[in-house]
Amino acid sequence: MKAFDTQTAAIRVSSPSSDLETKVQEWGEKIFSMVEAAGPPSFFTKEGLAGTVMDRAMRDEHFKTRLFRFVDVLPTLTSAGEVARHLREYFDTNQARPASGWSVGLKGASAAPWLLAPVVKAQVTALARHFMLGNNEKEITATLCQLRNRQIAFTVDLLGETVLSEAEADQYAARYLDMMALLARHMAGWPGPCKSNLCPRGPAPELNLSIKISALYSQIHPADPETAIEKISTRLGPILRKAKESGAFINFDMESYALKNLTLRLFKSIFSDPEFESAPARGLALQAYLKDSEADLTDIIAWARSRPRRLTVRLVKGAYWDYEMVAAQQKGWPVPVFADKSQTDANFEKLSAMLLENESVVDAAFGTHNVRSIAHALAQAELRGVDIRNFEFQMLRGMAEPVKATLLQLGCRLREYCPVGELLPGMAYLVRRLLENTSNEGFLANRYARNLGRKELLKRPVAPAAEPRRETGGTEFSGQTVFKNEPPVDFTVAAERQKMQEAIREARRQLGRRHPFVINHQPVSTRDWLPSLNPANQKEVIGYAAQATVADADAAIGAARAAWPKWARTPADQRAAFLEKTASLMRAEKSALCAIEVLEAGKTWTEADADVAEAMDFCNFYAGQMRALGRPERTQHVAGESNFLEWWPRGIGVVIAPWNFPLAILTGMAAAAMVAGNAVILKPSDQTPVIAARLMELFIKAGFPPGVANLLTGAGGTVGAHLVEHPQADFIAFTGSKEVGLKIWETAGRTRPGQMNLKKVVCEMGGKNCVIVDSDADLDEAVAGCIASAFGYQGQKCSALSRLVVLADNYEVFLQRFIAAAASMRIGPAEGPGNFLGPVISRGAQQRILKIIESGKKEATLAWQGRVPNDPDACYVPPTIFTEVPPESSLFREEIFGPVLAVVRAKNFDEALLLANTGEFALTGGCYSRSPANIERVKAELICGNLYINRGITGAIVERQPFGGFRMSGGGTKAGGRDYLRNFMVPRVVTENCLRRGFAPTDA
Ligand SMILES: Cc1cc2nc3c(=O)[nH]c(=O)nc-3n(C[C@H](O)[C@H](O)[C@H](O)COP(=O)(O)OP(=O)(O)OC[C@H]3O[C@@H](n4cnc5c(N)ncnc54)[C@H](O)[C@@H]3O)c2cc1C
Repeated sequence: MKAFDTQTAAIRVSSPSSDLETKVQEWGEKIFSMVEAAGPPSFFTKEGLAGTVMDRAMRDEHFKTRLFRFVDVLPTLTSAGEVARHLREYFDTNQARPASGWSVGLKGASAAPWLLAPVVKAQVTALARHFMLGNNEKEITATLCQLRNRQIAFTVDLLGETVLSEAEADQYAARYLDMMALLARHMAGWPGPCKSNLCPRGPAPELNLSIKISALYSQIHPADPETAIEKISTRLGPILRKAKESGAFINFDMESYALKNLTLRLFKSIFSDPEFESAPARGLALQAYLKDSEADLTDIIAWARSRPRRLTVRLVKGAYWDYEMVAAQQKGWPVPVFADKSQTDANFEKLSAMLLENESVVDAAFGTHNVRSIAHALAQAELRGVDIRNFEFQMLRGMAEPVKATLLQLGCRLREYCPVGELLPGMAYLVRRLLENTSNEGFLANRYARNLGRKELLKRPVAPAAEPRRETGGTEFSGQTVFKNEPPVDFTVAAERQKMQEAIREARRQLGRRHPFVINHQPVSTRDWLPSLNPANQKEVIGYAAQATVADADAAIGAARAAWPKWARTPADQRAAFLEKTASLMRAEKSALCAIEVLEAGKTWTEADADVAEAMDFCNFYAGQMRALGRPERTQHVAGESNFLEWWPRGIGVVIAPWNFPLAILTGMAAAAMVAGNAVILKPSDQTPVIAARLMELFIKAGFPPGVANLLTGAGGTVGAHLVEHPQADFIAFTGSKEVGLKIWETAGRTRPGQMNLKKVVCEMGGKNCVIVDSDADLDEAVAGCIASAFGYQGQKCSALSRLVVLADNYEVFLQRFIAAAASMRIGPAEGPGNFLGPVISRGAQQRILKIIESGKKEATLAWQGRVPNDPDACYVPPTIFTEVPPESSLFREEIFGPVLAVVRAKNFDEALLLANTGEFALTGGCYSRSPANIERVKAELICGNLYINRGITGAIVERQPFGGFRMSGGGTKAGGRDYLRNFMVPRVVTENCLRRGFAPTDA
């Protein structure tokens, strides 16, 4: 026996005894014999259309995807015509037709949709009703009564946990109170306790509710769990009070991993409150698929030991396995779940043992339908002498009915988890259940669809020796380096939050320093120093930047020109190594760099983190690209001659960068140019010179030779313009406004005396980006994605959403939810960890945007405007939504670069596309739709450089989404893409005749 001593008590866990496996097999055989006598669960015996369709889904992944997507969209389809159209789009393909009669049905659906549509809707509704109860009071109480009559206890869960606004969170909390009142009223007339609630330690509450805490606050932010706990507690308080009054039990369900620590903290904090310390009865779910779960259970048992009231731990395997795998891989985070099913099963058994071992402190509830897992719990209990009625089993409604019947016969206590709600909010739940019932790894499908035998199903789960590698994507460059995106910081980790807080404090200690510009590695001070101000507090000077003159610009060009020849001949591998070193230096001081951005650019924690990560990605990605490009490439092969293409640097470059991605864009353009063998002059924005000065320090520290990178701070109109005109400047890399970009484009086109090269301009300008919300869009996703795209970083991203075209069918409901969500955004200084929206960059920008809003009121209807903190020293602009915006208005056509959104209603999808394609820009665009045909149309017709479907339109990731637009948005170059470096080089071909006196080497 192994013991864990904690401050409060010992957590006891036994290692498996030799008798255990024999007992498990005995229980397993016994349960199987009884289960098999009862026949298969009803889900696996469905007849008619539903039966055929589910049968095919278990055998055909492509069909399963289409089916689940169709089921997901169906409740939003309001007309028979729409149902028929979606049926055709999802299933009228050679791959997806489920049965021969199907094509006839589909043809019928086209000709007479009212015939097929109601049948399909009824079938899917019946499928949903198999797993969840409707919203009808009578249906709910009748079902619970039936359960009780069969001696099955219940726990009720309210569907619709995705809340986008505080109004929705209020509604959700109110629904819980209503539900408790309804059930308490109804159950008062029940004859006596349900047998499954009778425990030797005393009866368990009859009224049992399960709750998802994320539904009680719409603005949960990973960096600010404290506010989340406070807000959720405020809404939970009345629910717990009512539960106390009604003698009810409250269980916290466990949701995605991102919410796990928050859920545990909230549970402990609220049930330590003197008001709730002793009542109501409480419990929480723990997921055995999580690698952390053993530590969490240890912790919760230790905590429970110090509490006046017992708690129940519902042990489950976990319902979000696929999501957790994808989410971790997309972010490049360690995968929190076990990768192998047997590891989850083995861990479930280990935690079951821990629960039973510590039954003096916690009540165990085993939430599983798996006969092996159940047999194991029973065997453990038997060996430990734990009364079978001292713990309970829990199962989901609509699943594993024969197993439920068997457990009752065996005298076990059984609780059914009953989700309640409308079809629409219940879709996520339904899809999770369908996935579970059709999963290749799932116990039920293996038993009833794939007919695996008892022996196989009762096998002891043995975790594989080494966890299978499921790596996130990395790109190999010619077998040399592997590029991986820098993962974002996970602010749910307390240490990361502390690190950031400390970095901000440290950045504050460094405020007000003078930052000379740098030529040839030499700092140059000037008489004039321009202050860089905190957008959230214009009295706070972040630093002072030296102001270069035209003569300084000439000196910088001279330094670059002098350094260039040697740098150009430095091997590509060496140049790449300097960039990689820069990235690693950035990693070492990531939080310090983020802190400067928070204070100088008004970036929130997550935005600043993303910017610094992107800067690192640019360095590493371009380094890898250059290593590949640095090797001459053979062109057409012919005997006796060698032909190679190679890339030469262009010369001297001027890099002019904006303030909105103050590190990433400056780094990206400079890194690409330098690694390609050019020498550069960096000209950052006047608004963010301090972060630019830090970058220059890093370039020097990384080992770039003097003169290769030079930094000039100063007025764009004079110094910047002079650099662009300079005959010795060979190319310009610019990101910024259309106005300046066009001027640069034009100026660079004029050849000046002494100029040796045609100037290349790499030019990225603005956008007036549009998202279409289709009539069948998933509004939970569309609202959240559009809020983030329109108002993230106060709308000051060139990729930001500024025109929203909503299909008429969805318009009212979308707008109502969207405005409620906007009204719930947290607004405040960027350094406040939970703030979503901060001030705009400067007083000038604030005044300009406020003016646009004023004149916008004459062009369109002001539908909503947020309230910002009343702080005269900060540059806040209230987030603003206009509706009825005429397509010809400036509100609809001109870039604003602030938190202002134009919303337009479109009659149909044709009109939506027409509206979206209006205007001179083509940067980002997006569409929320669940119509395969409309998605294809958007792909083919929406004019933009980066198109995003069913997600937000900002946040491009290096290599994954090479970024940049065309038309008046830019020259079509793609930053972070595979071709980007070629913009900074010229190709040349070297041909050598290898034939000497008729003899040619074979390898030529
Ligand atoms: C009453 C009740 C309440 C529940 N509450 C919650 C809750 O609050 N939160 C929650 O997340 N879930 C909850 N669940 C859902 C539960 O997680 C699933 O129903 C359960 O995982 C299915 O497990 P099983 O033992 O019945 O089936 P099995 O078929 O034995 O196990 C399936 C499970 O194994 C895991 N798995 C599948 N593939 C892999 C793989 N390749 N590698 C590793 N693991 C894998 C997954 O967790 C999957 O759900 C609850 C279930 C019940 C019965």
